[in-house]
Amino acid sequence: MFHYFDSAATTPVCPEAAQAALEAMTRGWGNPSSVYEFGRQAAQALTLWRADVAGALGCAPGELFFTSCGTESDNWAIRSALALNRRVGRHIVTTAIEHAAVLEPCRALEREGYEVTYLQPDRQGNIAPGQVEEAIRPDTALVTMMLVNNELGTVLPVREAAQAIRRTGSPALLHCDAVQGFLKLPFTPKELGVDLLSVSGHKIRAPKGIGALYVRQGLKLPPLILGGGQEGGLRSGTEATGQIAAFAAAARLGAERREETFQKLTALRAQAEERLVREVPGLKVLTQGGAPHILPVTLPGYKSEVVVRWLSDRGVYLSSGSACHKGKPSHVFAALKLPKAELDGVLRISFSPDNTQEDLDALVEGLTAARRELFSTLS
Ligand code: PLP
Repeated sequence: MFHYFDSAATTPVCPEAAQAALEAMTRGWGNPSSVYEFGRQAAQALTLWRADVAGALGCAPGELFFTSCGTESDNWAIRSALALNRRVGRHIVTTAIEHAAVLEPCRALEREGYEVTYLQPDRQGNIAPGQVEEAIRPDTALVTMMLVNNELGTVLPVREAAQAIRRTGSPALLHCDAVQGFLKLPFTPKELGVDLLSVSGHKIRAPKGIGALYVRQGLKLPPLILGGGQEGGLRSGTEATGQIAAFAAAARLGAERREETFQKLTALRAQAEERLVREVPGLKVLTQGGAPHILPVTLPGYKSEVVVRWLSDRGVYLSSGSACHKGKPSHVFAALKLPKAELDGVLRISFSPDNTQEDLDALVEGLTAARRELFSTLS
């Protein structure tokens, strides 16, 4: 028995998605490229699954390409957008609080001679819309900005970035890592005004190892993986039909329940915030508003890694930042320029609509006890 407050890291596969995967793997397991009936059935199923995910995202099925994960979608979008815009120049605009799936390709590109402008957030983790416009130059080939920050839950001004690109007449392409925003906030790629947008299955109760990239219709994105010509020739490799079937089922369900989920998460976060501030002396909420599933807090003077381990021994699972950092200090919290005692004590609490009152009690009691029993540099 444990209390899970790390849904921004990953989510359990929902029964509907597991069932869809099982059927795709044990009954309709044909290769969608095979010409005989069994293969054609798999291809037809793939068409329906693509329509389901595209429907949940609010784009045309022809604009959605399956990948192996959000990281792959981000890498593909960034590399291929730059290849497409190579005549424009070698300048990229991004933010200092992107996920490693965006920052690491950007750093690699810097080593290859690209110049990257990293927009800095304010103390609450917000990027001001005007920052994008200021950063755009005649040689800006790509702007890449996440929709929801995975550690803070802040919503970034992607729409405004698209408007800034249009207003300045820049030929820059706009990519958005929407892995944490998909089915949490209402948006469509078109309404955001992006050219490319990444999503991932395991944040929405599909299995790990499946993602997708939205490519605006008409954009001639160069392929990522060459081979048998699957995914419209842009991302070859026999389609992961089991994972895709599950992704489709989870996306369909998530879209049906999006509004209800939003209400539940918003209420949970508000309740957690209110109780934590009232019952855990010294605990501070780092930023308010934004996406409903993430609450970043700090216990100043405490080491977050120690708190996280201590809580996990008591069955309360949360994180000291993105699961991808594995113990290294988070660049996102560092970008907020917090005082050291606050930076040391940062914790990310992230919710699922399945969290119960009992979970919430365990979280509040756990943090209260941690504060009482663990060493603090401030005491
Ligand atoms: N982008 C963001 C904002 C994320 O939170 C994550 C996962 O933590 C990713 C990208 C990477 O997605 P995946 O785990 O599917 O590679």
